Amino acid sequence: MIQIPFKNRYATLGEGFYVTTRPSPVASPALVKFNDDLANTLGLSVTDLDSYDVAAILSGNVVPDGAEPLAMAYAGHQFGHFSPQLGDGRAILLGEISSPDGSSFDIHLKGSGRTFYSRNGDGRAALGPVLREYLVSEAMFKLGVPTTRALAVVTTGEEVARERLLPGGIITRIATSFVRVGTFQYFASRGDVEAIQKLADYVIERNYPLTREADNPYAAFLKIVVDRQAALIAQWMQLGFIHGVMNTDNMSIAGETIDYGPCAFMDAYDHNKVLSSIDRDGRYAYSNQPAIGLWNLTRLAESLVPLLAADTETAVELAQDVLKTYFGTYQNAWLTGMRSKCGLTAGAEQAAGEEDKSLIEELLNTMAENNADFTQTFFYLSQLAAQPLEQDSAVRNLFDNPARFDDWALKWRKRLGYETQNDAERQKQMKAVNPVYIPRNHQIEAAIRAAEDHGDFSVFHDLHEVLQNPYIRQEGKDNYMLPPEPDEVVKETFCGT
Ligand code: AMP
Ligand code: MG
Repeated sequence: MIQIPFKNRYATLGEGFYVTTRPSPVASPALVKFNDDLANTLGLSVTDLDSYDVAAILSGNVVPDGAEPLAMAYAGHQFGHFSPQLGDGRAILLGEISSPDGSSFDIHLKGSGRTFYSRNGDGRAALGPVLREYLVSEAMFKLGVPTTRALAVVTTGEEVARERLLPGGIITRIATSFVRVGTFQYFASRGDVEAIQKLADYVIERNYPLTREADNPYAAFLKIVVDRQAALIAQWMQLGFIHGVMNTDNMSIAGETIDYGPCAFMDAYDHNKVLSSIDRDGRYAYSNQPAIGLWNLTRLAESLVPLLAADTETAVELAQDVLKTYFGTYQNAWLTGMRSKCGLTAGAEQAAGEEDKSLIEELLNTMAENNADFTQTFFYLSQLAAQPLEQDSAVRNLFDNPARFDDWALKWRKRLGYETQNDAERQKQMKAVNPVYIPRNHQIEAAIRAAEDHGDFSVFHDLHEVLQNPYIRQEGKDNYMLPPEPDEVVKETFCGT
């Protein structure tokens, strides 16, 4: 059986914050994937793992002892339009657990049936998006990006009606909090200051206990969320990750990547890349992500205004002061990360940050103009020596016009002259931040097709395995490094719904 030591603090906030809801049973749950490593980290004791029992719990057919299943209330701006009531329409919070190292996690089932917040939806998830979330969220974790994690996938034995009938799936996911910017907006839009404060106190206690010591704990709380999001989005940018649906209900208060819907990594570098089929205006395009982060955080700050100071004017000023720090924090995180990707270490005082910034931007522009693959360019750049050698061919051949890379490489090598690291040191440092493998969209699509169309999960398992060590080149796995062939290109990624 699986023993889960629950301690459910969200449930103590009371009705109004959620609606108590049991998951709806499914016809015949079967376990596709169970994340043993994560279960160990969480201290879930899975003894005599009987996949039948585990699937019963992770499909919601059996509610484990100590769980207090509920659907959380939240609002949100979706593509800029405010919906005062969204909420968990197809997800359920089973409860909170403490891991052996003392950290707290929430366990969610997604695809677990209708709730009070389902509106016209069926409360279910198709298997494809569930597999996508499992692959991408676990890859993000291994890449070193803060994220919700995936504990398990089950199939339900039922079909869900989307553009066609598809097999149903349920993902069990873990977060340090499922509170979103939209959770604060929910109460703010109702003018319920008491609830905003209760929610803020809960989040501060759970996620940011140190901010309690600050002169103004709520301003400190806003600041830490702003810092975390700025750093998070900088990491997305450095990996070519496009979230695709950065609505305020999909922005975590804990600074984790959350709600993997139409997300994707780009192959060839393109500033304005949009991959989501529902993002018609490119609101959530790759290069818009930093600005949208601030837009969303501004909605959070607005919601917190009543807590920041007794008079509104002072409160608004405080909020603005915090928001003003966002771009600086973002730019610093971005530049530090990008310099590291290019092997430019902080020790090189001769080269001002601005010069490095334009060198980096020139590389990105050259990549964009020459259809160079983002991940491969940095991967092969990590192999280059300070002196030009024939190894350059691997990276320059990624560019439509390789001479354009040569032009850039001349400047890059000149800049390396200011570095104190030798080639081996620099290459080692670069390889630690430039992944060999990312979950490429066409490979995710192939895994989904095999599973949905043929009940074959081997493609999913193989891809997942490779992504467990994204920074290490694995023997016989070079095909996972490659961008899609023309006939494999996935032009659009569909929303999880
Ligand atoms: P998402 O786009 O997945 O972030 O979801 C936006 C809102 O729609 C949330 O309130 C979800 O709970 C709700 N939702 C999405 N899909 C479904 C579904 N199949 N059934 C019910 N509600 C859903
Ligand atoms: Mg969502």
